[in-house]
Amino acid sequence: MEKKFSQLRRKYEEVAALGSAASVLGWDQRVYMPPKGAEARGRALAALEETLHVKFTAPETGALIAELYDWAQARGGDSFEAAYLRALKRDYDKAVKLPAAFVSEFSLACTAAYEAWHKAKQASDFSVFAPHLEKMLQLNLRKAAILDPKAAPYDALLDIYEPGMTRARLDAIFAELLAGLKPVIKAIAAKSGKVSDAPFRGDFDPAAQLRLADELVKALGFDFDRGRQDRSPHPFTTGGSINDIRITTRAHADWLPACVYASIHECGHALYELGSPQDFEFTPLAGGASLGMHESQSRFWENVVGRSRPFAAWALPLYRKHFPGKFDNLTPEDLYRAANKSAPSLVRVEADEVTYNLHIALRYEIETMLLDGSLKVKDAPAMWNSRMKDYLGIAPANDAEGILQDVHWSQGTLGYFPTYTLGNLAAAQLFNAMKRDLGDTDALVARGEFAPLLAWLGGKIHVHGRKYLPEELLQRAIGEKLSVGPFVDYIKAKYSEIYGF
Ligand code: MG
Repeated sequence: MEKKFSQLRRKYEEVAALGSAASVLGWDQRVYMPPKGAEARGRALAALEETLHVKFTAPETGALIAELYDWAQARGGDSFEAAYLRALKRDYDKAVKLPAAFVSEFSLACTAAYEAWHKAKQASDFSVFAPHLEKMLQLNLRKAAILDPKAAPYDALLDIYEPGMTRARLDAIFAELLAGLKPVIKAIAAKSGKVSDAPFRGDFDPAAQLRLADELVKALGFDFDRGRQDRSPHPFTTGGSINDIRITTRAHADWLPACVYASIHECGHALYELGSPQDFEFTPLAGGASLGMHESQSRFWENVVGRSRPFAAWALPLYRKHFPGKFDNLTPEDLYRAANKSAPSLVRVEADEVTYNLHIALRYEIETMLLDGSLKVKDAPAMWNSRMKDYLGIAPANDAEGILQDVHWSQGTLGYFPTYTLGNLAAAQLFNAMKRDLGDTDALVARGEFAPLLAWLGGKIHVHGRKYLPEELLQRAIGEKLSVGPFVDYIKAKYSEIYGF
């Protein structure tokens, strides 16, 4: 059996190697590729991905999985072999169900939908995107039926991004979360003049911003021998290997947090990837347990650490160093408050940590209604606008700053948005557990000693890669199920102190 396992591993290594190449080409496409290279790159990536899909779904692989599965589990559920087979079987079973013709139809429809979304957003005209959203909806309904004909479509799709999660649980999570956050948002609105983000507005040299971003992520533990940081319009993290993780950030001359916090956020994703054990390289165990668990890491560093009072105290000298004169008269407290201004806004990616999850709730509700047929595509913009008014008291003036703002639906991903909220919830739970273990994390952060925090996350979360499903991983790490209370408590405590209510 050991021999057969080696055979399976060699087969998977070829797939992983192709995936690694595709990932670096995809990174280049979004960071350095000249615009006219787009067509050739699209063809190269499509060819690679098709080869990868064919190789991955080869019947011999399925036969080896079937033969080895029980043998591997018998070695103990936590063993490398057992986890390897579990992770591979999950991926294989999903991939093999999707016929190549469907995968290709889906991919072509996404390309067309992305083009249409881009045009629609520029013209702020939902009608340009509407037929493509309808197509995405129908394709996702088909995909859901292929993947799990017994499940409700939303559950089948959600399982791709957050294995084990269900719509029933999400409904309860969002209900509790909204009930907890709405009074906080109201209380902040009554004191809206109390916090100024003026220190972050002005004219900041983009090159200096990137130097600051490099210094920040290096301090957090990002290893530049095993990764890079570059600039791209939409920040992201990708990787060709456990030892080659790429992050990007952006730089807006007039708004410093766009660079700083995107950089810290993506660094959080990267630290998770870089934390996989070396023997997970080119195995299905490398990476993160789910998108939600991944987001718990990015949001932990971005918000729980990066927007904390001790972080402001530690970071102020760096701001002064990279922007001489601009921060001289500011105190750490000014910086802390500037980083935590909360106000209803129309755009999710610019939302503060209090209002952010209401943006997600709105998208989740629209996705579920579209998929269960209770909302028609043509009525989606009106639903968007009325929910915005209901949740945040503001309404978009047009579709570009409303329903057309996010790229996700044009890329065929429905059922993905809730993972952002799940990450925020888990980050608060992890922080509480970390403080129980490490004691005064504020003192560590104020001194710029981030290594103990990273080591704690590494030992509890990163070291397991994709060995366990997200909820099992959380249970093992901190002995808790995912819950809403710790996040709401964290928000209430932090913002009642900042705003004085
Ligand atoms: Mg993220």
